[in-house]
Amino acid sequence: MKAAALFGGKPVLSFEVFPPKPNVPIDSIYQTLSALKDLHPDFISVTYGAGGSVPGASTAEICETIQNTHGIPSIAHLPCINETRESVLEKLEQFRARGIENILALRGDRNPDVEPKDDFHYASELIAFIREQGDFDIAAACYPEGHPESPDLDTDISHLKEKVDAGASHLISQLFYHNPDFYAFREKIAAAGISVPVEAGIMPVTSKKSIERMVSLCGASIPNRLAKLMARYSDDPASLKAAGLEYAIMQIDDLLANGADGIHIYTMNNPDVARYIMEQIAEAAGR
Ligand code: FAD
Repeated sequence: MKAAALFGGKPVLSFEVFPPKPNVPIDSIYQTLSALKDLHPDFISVTYGAGGSVPGASTAEICETIQNTHGIPSIAHLPCINETRESVLEKLEQFRARGIENILALRGDRNPDVEPKDDFHYASELIAFIREQGDFDIAAACYPEGHPESPDLDTDISHLKEKVDAGASHLISQLFYHNPDFYAFREKIAAAGISVPVEAGIMPVTSKKSIERMVSLCGASIPNRLAKLMARYSDDPASLKAAGLEYAIMQIDDLLANGADGIHIYTMNNPDVARYIMEQIAEAAGR
């Protein structure tokens, strides 16, 4: 099923998982998927080369399992700066052979140890290329606080428009913790002529270390309320996790009340966290 067809009714609720890191048994992801399936997400997306996993390990296989074993639409992430046109064509063939119809087309983060290839410099070029290759549904990333490399939000939005014009049918946002930033972003992109659905990316705070790492990587800001929680429970991981989950639920309830097209939960492969959140937001999400 094409992901674009999911939008327009109730808000879309989706999950993101990553292929297991090299030191984690591959089976762990299949157990995670079995647990996530029971929560009835609208789709599950699978990262590629992110989260410390081996680049490309199993993204296509995991997507295939999500779709064919669990009957849930999947989206395969595909970053392009380290790919050539030929290698992208090979991957598209693999996706096609496995029945994967949805791709999140990305530039990917620069790795100082890897010289990027010269075929794709920006996600918009990958989107245009995939569009030429057939009938994939293409999603793209967006950044409510601006992409960290961008000089300002308006410039970033002008490049976001290029991705939509090239063929992105929906957008998934970077994580953020201050909903007014997302609402201001929605207004700005609408003014820029972007009208495709935008899912809000939510990463629950479950540990101080993980959130500090993520925030330093993606440049998201931490509002006072969350900073105070993190300070209050800095020596109490269980209370920090409980408070972090309540914060995420409060964020999601507010987003749903304000007409978000969808909520994309960065599950960090933790079905218990996803289950708790889904139970708490079910009513607000009309489930
Ligand atoms: P782009 O849209 O190409 O933008 C990158 C930068 O270039 C921006 O600053 C933009 O403003 C600028 N830009 C764009 N076009 C132009 C142009 N024509 N001229 C000048 N500047 C331009 N990374 C992974 O490696 N694997 C994953 O699985 C993964 N999944 C992700 C999922 C989501 C939902 C998100 C939000 C991010 C994900 N990332 C992943 C991280 C992503 O690869 C990085 O954020 C990366 O730095 C930018 O990717 P992009 O596709 O947004 O890039």
